[in-house]
Amino acid sequence: MNIQPIASHYIDGAYVEDTAGDLIEVIYPYTGKVIARLHAATPAIVDQALNAAKRAQKEWAGWTGTQRGRVLRRAADIMRERNHDLSVLETYDTGKPYQETSVADATSGADAFEYFGGLAGSITGEHIPLGENFVYTRREPLGVCVGIGAWNYPTQIACWKGAPALACGNALVFKPSETTPLCALKIAEILTEAGAPAGLYNVVQGYGAVGAALVTDPRVDKVSLTGSVATGRKVYAAAAEGLRHVTMELGGKSPLVIFDDADLEAAVSGAILGNFYSAGQVCSNGTRVFVQKGIKDAFLARLTDRLQAVVMGDPQDPATHYGPMVSAAQRDIVEGFIAKGQAEGARLVTGGTRPDMAGFFLAPTVFADVTDDMTIAREEIFGPVMSVLDFDTEAEALRRANDTPYGLAAGVFTADLARAHRMAAGFQAGTCYINTYNDAPVEAPFGGMKLSGVGRENSKAAIDHYSQIKSVFVRMDRCEAPF
Ligand code: NAD
Repeated sequence: MNIQPIASHYIDGAYVEDTAGDLIEVIYPYTGKVIARLHAATPAIVDQALNAAKRAQKEWAGWTGTQRGRVLRRAADIMRERNHDLSVLETYDTGKPYQETSVADATSGADAFEYFGGLAGSITGEHIPLGENFVYTRREPLGVCVGIGAWNYPTQIACWKGAPALACGNALVFKPSETTPLCALKIAEILTEAGAPAGLYNVVQGYGAVGAALVTDPRVDKVSLTGSVATGRKVYAAAAEGLRHVTMELGGKSPLVIFDDADLEAAVSGAILGNFYSAGQVCSNGTRVFVQKGIKDAFLARLTDRLQAVVMGDPQDPATHYGPMVSAAQRDIVEGFIAKGQAEGARLVTGGTRPDMAGFFLAPTVFADVTDDMTIAREEIFGPVMSVLDFDTEAEALRRANDTPYGLAAGVFTADLARAHRMAAGFQAGTCYINTYNDAPVEAPFGGMKLSGVGRENSKAAIDHYSQIKSVFVRMDRCEAPF
C-alpha cells in the first residue's frame, strides 16, 4: 500500500498540492518513523476549497434527495468493498490495531453514508393548516459546512460529519487532525467515484491555524468540531462572531457505575471496553469506574487477570488487541497523569509503564482507591488509565458520577432493572449505557451535555443540525390591512 498520498489536499474532485504550506510529517505510532509528508493549506488552498464547495453546493442542493442518497449509498458500498485497505491505512494513521479498525472505522463510516443516504429522500418540511390558509415549511441546507477532526477516529469523524451534511444538501470542507491526515483523503476520493459533484467534499490539511481560518471565513455557514474542550471554546467563540451554526463534539470524564449485583464478567468487559479500546483514546470512555464496596475486590482481581491476556504488539497483525498511543506527545501527557495519580496517593494496581517494545506503547493502567478530588478523577486523560473509586449507595454514586463539568457519556452495570433506568434518568450525560459500554450505532444520537458539547451527531437528530427550516405562509383569502 502506498501511504504517501498523491498530494496533501483534495479539492474540486482532485488532489492538489501547494508545497509552500508548513510541513506535516505523518508518523507511524508503531515504529516512530515518518511514513508520509504533507503540507498544511496555504491561504490560497483554503480559498480554492471554499470556492469549490460554494459552487458545488448550489448544484447539489438542486438534486432530489433520492439522487443525493444514491451517491451516499454508493460511497458506503465502495467503503465496505475496500474495508481492508481503509483499515490498514487507519492503522498506519493512528496506530490502532487492525483488529479494531477492520470492524469500527471504515465500517462505521460506511454505516453513516448508508443511513443518511437512506434518509436523504425523506428530508422534508410539513404542512400546517390554518383554516383555509396554510403554512408549509421547507427544510433547506445550511450551505458550506466546515468539519474539523480529532486524531482518534479520522475515518469515522470524516464520515460522521460528511454523511449528514451531504444528505441535507450541503457541501463540506473537512480539515483532519494534523496528527492523522491520511484517511479523510480516501473518503473524498470515494465520494467522487460514487458520483458526487466535484467540490462537494473537500479535504484541506493543516494545524489549528488552518482550522481557525476556515471557521471565520464568511463563505462558511456551519462548523462541526470534534476535539478538546479548550479548542471547542475557541472555535465556538470564533463561529459566534458570524453567528454560524455549530456542532461541538468535545471531551469527557465519564462515569461507569458497577453495583454489587452486576454480572461481574460483563462489568469487567464493560470497563475494559470503556478504558482500553484504542489504547484509551476514546472521548466517551468511562474512566471513573465507581465500584460498590461489596464487589470491589472481586472486580479488581478479575480485571487484573483479564488484562494479563491482552495481546500488545504489531497493530497490523490481526491477532493484536492493543496498539501504541497515537504519538509520543500524547503518551508523555498520559504519563504525566500517571505520575500525578501516584503522587496524590492512588494505588497503582497494574500498568503505568512502557512495555519493552518500539512505538508509543503504554500498558493498560488501573488505579484503585481513587478519590473524587484527585487529578486523575477530574481531568480528561485520553489514554489507557482507569480510575476505580469505591461507593456505598445508589444516591451517592449518582451524585458523585454527575460531579464533573463534562457530560458526554455514563454507564451502569446492575441486575436491578428499575435501578438501571433510575440511574440512566439521573445521569447528566448525552449517551448512557445499561449493562454495556461505548456502543455508538449511527441510528442513535451521539453528543454531550455540559462542557462535552453542543448538538448531536448521527441519527435523525443530526438532520436538525445540518439543515434549517423556512416557513412559507400562504393566504387563500384576500390580504387586508386596517388602513
Ligand atoms: P484538539 O482540540 O487538540 O484538536 C482538534 C482539531 O481542532 C484538530 O484538527 C486541530 O488542528 C484543530 N484546531 C486546533 N486549534 C484550533 C483552532 N483555534 N481553530 C480551529 N481548529 C483548531 O483535539 P485532539 O487532541 O485532536 O483530540 C482529542 C480530543 O478530542 C479529546 O478531548 C477528546 O475527548 C475529543 N474527542 C471528542 C469526540 C466526541 O465525539 N465528543 C470524539 C473524539 C475526540
